[in-house]
Amino acid sequence: MTAQLFSHQAKPPTQLEKVDRQLKAEIRGCQLAKDVVSEAETPFQDIFQQAAIGIAQVAVDGKFLRVNQWFCQFLGYTESQLLQLQSQNVTHPDDIESELEFVAALLENGIEQFSQQKRYIRQDGAVVWANVTVSLVRDIINKPKYLIAIATDISDQKQLAEVLRDTEECFPNQILGSLEDVVWSISAQTQEILYLNPAVEKVYGRSISEFFNQPNLWQLVIHPEDRQRVEEAKGILLKEGSQNLEYRIVRPDGEVRWVYDRARVIKNPRGSPIRIDGMISDISDRYDELRLGKQIEAQLLHDALHDSLTGLPNRTLFMERVNHALKLAQHNQDYLFAVLFLDLDRFKVVNDSLGHQVGDQLLIAIAIQLQGCLRTTDTLARLGGDEFTILLEDIPDIKEATKIAERIQGVLKLPFNLDGNQVFTTVSIGIALSSTGYEQTEDILRDADIAMYRAKELGKARHEVFDKVMHQRVLKLLQLENDLRQALERQEFELYYQPITSLFTGNLTGFEALVRWQHPVRGLIPPGEFIPVAEETGLIIPLGEWVLREACRQLRVWQTQFPTPEPLQISVNLSGKQLQEPDLIAQIDEILAETGLDGSFLKLEITESVLMENAETVTKMLLQMRARHIQLSVDDFGTGYSSLSYLHRFPVNTLKIDRSFVSRMKASDRNSEIVRTIVTLAHSLRMDVIAEGVETWEQLTELKLLQCEQGQGYF
Ligand code: C2E
Ligand code: CA
Ligand code: CA
Repeated sequence: MTAQLFSHQAKPPTQLEKVDRQLKAEIRGCQLAKDVVSEAETPFQDIFQQAAIGIAQVAVDGKFLRVNQWFCQFLGYTESQLLQLQSQNVTHPDDIESELEFVAALLENGIEQFSQQKRYIRQDGAVVWANVTVSLVRDIINKPKYLIAIATDISDQKQLAEVLRDTEECFPNQILGSLEDVVWSISAQTQEILYLNPAVEKVYGRSISEFFNQPNLWQLVIHPEDRQRVEEAKGILLKEGSQNLEYRIVRPDGEVRWVYDRARVIKNPRGSPIRIDGMISDISDRYDELRLGKQIEAQLLHDALHDSLTGLPNRTLFMERVNHALKLAQHNQDYLFAVLFLDLDRFKVVNDSLGHQVGDQLLIAIAIQLQGCLRTTDTLARLGGDEFTILLEDIPDIKEATKIAERIQGVLKLPFNLDGNQVFTTVSIGIALSSTGYEQTEDILRDADIAMYRAKELGKARHEVFDKVMHQRVLKLLQLENDLRQALERQEFELYYQPITSLFTGNLTGFEALVRWQHPVRGLIPPGEFIPVAEETGLIIPLGEWVLREACRQLRVWQTQFPTPEPLQISVNLSGKQLQEPDLIAQIDEILAETGLDGSFLKLEITESVLMENAETVTKMLLQMRARHIQLSVDDFGTGYSSLSYLHRFPVNTLKIDRSFVSRMKASDRNSEIVRTIVTLAHSLRMDVIAEGVETWEQLTELKLLQCEQGQGYF
């Protein structure tokens, strides 16, 4: 019915135009009907209000008479606000004039309808674009009655066109064309490419037109393994508005390049995305550097936490793991772990006799064997030298730790074949258990170490679990160490002098200075009880210096008070630790100068084992002493397993036969033979012999018979 009334098509209408006109016709019909029927009863009321385009009934002077919901929302006003306004109030100032002209043409020239692209100013001040079709409605006598305006939102298209124009104006192709980086712009809705600069040819190895002609080429050039990632990033991009991503692209020749893509979503004033702009840089070269950097970084990190010889975790990493286990144990009563401290029993011998290379091979072979005894969850580390540690995590009970220790000892007992040498080794193991209730990581390692020392003391090639008794011993030692420090300050040490006499003449030839500790509470303490602690703690250095100075001073006093035809000598014991001090010689020089004693009256005693263990460095030291005419003795001779043939290498003057031989010596038995051999050997090396621990007249006579020159002892 209404269609008949208002049909005025000139050319075949598009689908949209059809809908448009249909609507307009309906609205006009609606208006006509309104003149007759009451508004509330109009069935078109709903259509008018809910249409997905803007519809307004406007008076010829521009005043809004009726507006639908879409129109209100588009302009950001409420219906009642809009009905107070004229079209001119919401039209962009630049577009008012042309609109008035169109309306005038409608009214005066008999045109029924015009379309115009115009700008409205929303209530919030934003400019929006609309395509507005305005039709004039006349009454029955053909008098202009009012206008019907149909509006659609074209802001997005307008903005896009504007920005593109701007882009082209502001960044002429010369600038964008000279960039190394790809600049791109695509439509947010259709993903259609809007702009691409020439750099795309350099980076992608494809022309701009290829990209324009093949819309999905964009996706195809992304490395297949990275497509998923890029797709995910796109989702984030639309959500967050911007996104940077590194991914690979594949060039037509198959070359893979790394690119860095920075994308931004461009939105319209109402916040909906219209365009995505971005820039792509080829970072392949930088990426290679970066990757190399990361590799080096990883390598450095690995090196910092691992032992370079065996590749096992080092102390730092081990402590970290123990620390972690400790935390677990502190939070969970049922969680048990154990730390095993391993020290090879004869590694030094292997190293010294077969060389460092074989020593290294042995350590590597042992590392492999040890690893074989463990679960993958356990940590095997090398602390350095021949020390290994093991962390057994989450063990059911103590027995598990001793079981593994036994397994290790069993495996290591078998000979290793290194460079054609059969090498046997055993290991001493100390075990500390988390059930002791540790708070510090260092403490558990320390106790495992103490238990290992205990295992060594008890005969090596065995394991010991750290226990209360050991703890007591440790406390006692700690106490002793403290007391020793104080004793040094308070000068609680004294020297006892044991006479040394010629066995042939019976004359006094000198003394051995033996240190004693006059403890304020415990009384006189023999050196056997505190010298080892002093050595371990380094206190032997100041103590030894004091002994040397005091002994030299005392001898000088005696020499002047009681002159003898043959000047007396003083024997002073030197600890291995003292021999390792580089400034020992300087110290001796100073003491000799200070006390005024001639070096030839000083005799330094070095035990056989110290001599043998550090043969090379000690020999250098000894030669320097001999240059000062200082006499040298090998103490405790016969206990150090040294091969006798070794002896000639050392520039020593005297052998002191250990008292164990002297005490067991009886006429013409095996011990006497040993003493005879030592004496003969010494003489052939132009050394003289002192017998230690001479207690009886029989021993004295026997020693005389064996041609031993001097003796000392309780006798
Ligand atoms: P040493 O150098 O072998 O000293 C001899 C030890 O045997 C001394 O024990 C001495 O008292 C003891 N002795 C002497 N004659 C006899 C005897 O006829 N029978 C028995 N059974 N024993 C005898 P001491 O003084 O207890 O010294 C023990 C060790 O302590 C010394 O063994 C020495 O290695 C070390 N020592 C003593 N004083 C010093 C010192 O000033 N510096 C260093 N580094 N070590 C020292
Ligand atoms: Ca001695
Ligand atoms: Ca001795």
